[in-house]
Amino acid sequence: MRLMVVGAGQMGAGIAQVFAMHGHEVLLNDVDEVRIKRGIDGIAKRLQRDVEKGRMTADARGKVLEHIDARPHFKDLDVALAIEAATEDFDTKIDLFHRLDENTAPDTILASNTSSISITSLGATTSKPERVIGMHFMNPVPVMMLVEVIRGIATSDATARTVVELASSLGKTPVEVRDFPGFIANRILMPMINEAIFAVYEGVASIDAIDTVMKLGMNHPMGPLTLADFIGLDTCLAIMNVLYDGFGDSKYRACPLLKQYVAAGWLGKKSGRGFYDYRGTVTVPAAV
Ligand code: NAD
Repeated sequence: MRLMVVGAGQMGAGIAQVFAMHGHEVLLNDVDEVRIKRGIDGIAKRLQRDVEKGRMTADARGKVLEHIDARPHFKDLDVALAIEAATEDFDTKIDLFHRLDENTAPDTILASNTSSISITSLGATTSKPERVIGMHFMNPVPVMMLVEVIRGIATSDATARTVVELASSLGKTPVEVRDFPGFIANRILMPMINEAIFAVYEGVASIDAIDTVMKLGMNHPMGPLTLADFIGLDTCLAIMNVLYDGFGDSKYRACPLLKQYVAAGWLGKKSGRGFYDYRGTVTVPAAV
């Protein structure tokens, strides 16, 4: 299959890598060539690590990279599927769905990797809402098994079936959910992360202590603050705001400390600093 992935950040690059590893032709898009190159370089680096660890041959690595092409524009898009994995921002995604709709064939499936934004709203901006669906991969995409498949109110059975089969063919486990704010994954995960941030904000315990309690006490592989840094604090804040607006319930209000970190540009691992500091040779909790 030939597909377009829009957004070459941590998720878009991961999605492009997984499709290319399964022999699909991927066009990778972002706002400029520099960001697309950064995404492709990241994929090349990750695959190189796989070669060094004996998980892949150098030849196979070369073939995967040959399956990914930079595509800085939307003109003449001859693709069966487009997956949008741009920044978690409603206006950005609405604009992208509008442009994808204008530049693709009527039967092209338009999927979003959004963590929380309404698939129904994205579909409504297009001429083919029955072909619009959520295909929510988890981070890191090459490693995580789950794909949450979200049906907007107008998504057709045929579109859902195609996407479920496609996710399975990539070696993932698709789970179908309905289109309500945060779907299932982030409706449950994000309030927990937000509560962990409130615990930091109120001085209940240190960053390290909170993560240790959740790791050793709940058997979570990663503490909530480490996970927040890994997801990106801007993405966490955007998801909390979608939950808050969507349900109109104060229990989803974002912690002021999360807002302050995002305002400071402390976005977690991707910016070098979040609840932990990633700039040195060892990762350490950052001072609050
Ligand atoms: P990121 O910040 O790493 O990357 C986002 C990319 O989108 C950037 O490269 C940015 O330049 C690009 N972008 C922004 N506007 C664009 C536009 N108009 N056209 C093309 N590209 C554009 O973010 P991410 O973590 O990769 O998240 C991307 C999406 O995936 C979001 O919707 C997010 O909610 C979702 N998601 C994130 C995670 C996670 O753990 N980070 C998990 C699942 C889903």
